[in-house]
Amino acid sequence: MEIAPKIYSLPAGRGEFMGLFPPNVYLVAGRRAALIDAGYGDPEAVGSRLDFIRNFSLAYILITHAHPDHIGGAEEFRRATGAVILAHPEESVSRAEGKLEDGQVLDLEGAKIRVVHTPGHTRGHLCFLAEEAGVLFTGDHILGLGTTVIRPHQGDMGEYMESLRKLLDLPLKLIAPGHGPVVRQPQAKVRELLQHREERERQVLDCLRRGIGDIPGMVREIYPELDGRLIPMAREQVLAHLMKLVKEGRAEEKDGGYHIV
Ligand SMILES: [Zn+2]
Repeated sequence: MEIAPKIYSLPAGRGEFMGLFPPNVYLVAGRRAALIDAGYGDPEAVGSRLDFIRNFSLAYILITHAHPDHIGGAEEFRRATGAVILAHPEESVSRAEGKLEDGQVLDLEGAKIRVVHTPGHTRGHLCFLAEEAGVLFTGDHILGLGTTVIRPHQGDMGEYMESLRKLLDLPLKLIAPGHGPVVRQPQAKVRELLQHREERERQVLDCLRRGIGDIPGMVREIYPELDGRLIPMAREQVLAHLMKLVKEGRAEEKDGGYHIV
């Protein structure tokens, strides 16, 4: 499916994906082409995408981050096309032959892709901007629906929010996320996500002010109606916020709990 001129969303298999939205794979075509992420590596999904990719001269396989639903098929595509796998140095992507850094521009001869480093979900997470079309490929930094999981020891809430703010300055027309539908009002989406995190942070601070300094207690306050299966994830999000506040000197951890500074 063509989501913008010469930019395609490729049919993707579900792989072993359990969530609502399986990973999206995109192709940007100039005289040479780039694949954005690679989905899972199961033969059926890879085969159906390869049939389409063979119509183009694939030069690059660009990786937003090294989670299995984004890199699983990369090696298969590399072998079938000879394209080069590129990722940020902080992501461990096997077979990556080159490293990408913030601000770098890849010329596809007819389309240019700018690399935007957006740490937060992972340390080396990248977004890719198709400059002429104003399409930003966001991997797991921004999802079509819902909010990104920030795992405290894999990602960083402070960096995540900073990386969202960074996108407010970009000339965006469309967001093509790693999961879920495309977003047609990019700036409104970025602002909405920022506000959501700022609101959570206020709630966490409010708990601390009221002397609620244990994570399970905070989750009960902040997410009172939460489905039991989602509690572990909610605890991680609260911890990610607490770690941000500790880093900023606004909270401290002592005597087995968190306290306002
Ligand atoms: Zn991810």
